[in-house]
Amino acid sequence: MAAKRKSKTARAAIIFLCTVGFFLIFLLGSGIDITEMAGQIWNSLGSSENTASAHAAKLVPEDSDSLLLYIIDTGNSDSMVLRSPDGHSVLIDAGESDDAQYILDTLSALGIRKLDAVVATHPHADHIGSMVAILKQIPADVVYMTDFAASTQTYEDMLDAIEASGIPTVDINSGDTFDIGAVHFTALNPQDRIYDDANNSSIVLLAEYGDTRFLFEGDAEDEAISDMLAQYSELLDADVLKVGHHGSRNATTSEFLKAVTPETAIITCGEENDYGHPHQETLDLLGSMGVTTLRTDQDSDIAIFSDGAAVWYAAAA
Ligand SMILES: [Zn+2]
Repeated sequence: MAAKRKSKTARAAIIFLCTVGFFLIFLLGSGIDITEMAGQIWNSLGSSENTASAHAAKLVPEDSDSLLLYIIDTGNSDSMVLRSPDGHSVLIDAGESDDAQYILDTLSALGIRKLDAVVATHPHADHIGSMVAILKQIPADVVYMTDFAASTQTYEDMLDAIEASGIPTVDINSGDTFDIGAVHFTALNPQDRIYDDANNSSIVLLAEYGDTRFLFEGDAEDEAISDMLAQYSELLDADVLKVGHHGSRNATTSEFLKAVTPETAIITCGEENDYGHPHQETLDLLGSMGVTTLRTDQDSDIAIFSDGAAVWYAAAA
């Protein structure tokens, strides 16, 4: 048996070497630059740190003195950071549990060593998955949370990490306001009524910088949207909309878009995700209103800038 296995191994090795040899001869004959090809393969295997810093360098001018909203491409999950020109930063959500390194590398590439606030919009794993890892690495002054609790291990681990770190938490409700540097935040959700699901209990934030306005919807859906329309229709107007629930049809209505009238919409979604996000109905609604729609599955990391009067963007892909 041993001799047989040996001869089998030797035969396999010869076949492998012949295949590699023929492949190299084919490449040489075809005129393909092997060095360039090897470089491309190496780049495609590039580390999270390389990708994060290459994207940040491409999108954000070193001497930028504008407000920056940087949407971190974590696939079908949310993580974004708002960096004000006066050096203050807010992280909104922290992706899935395997997104920690890319989020940390991105924050590092953007020169963010400390967070003035962290917002956990709601306790689903695609929004708080890497919260523990991030809070362990980067000091934060406060964590803003919705008072909708979850019974998941991910949520319990986040609460434990916050308690161990001593970072204060504040439950956010509609009407609450806070300032981070020159940016003024107003919470439009969750509202007084109790929602029976986490998505509708998402913290929805309006961020104002000069005359420009950014609306972060979290994963808020129909119920929360109609409540916001009833209570805050005047406040919803924004230049930039982080579309709710990864572009789900349940999170965008024409009434809501008519109140927000965004110039630019951002959808956080993964390529070929299991939910079919973003839904075609959402894309059609945005398209029918002439909204420029950016998607992390197509545009990867996205940087949006504001000088207080105008808003513009750049995308990594
Ligand atoms: Zn989500």
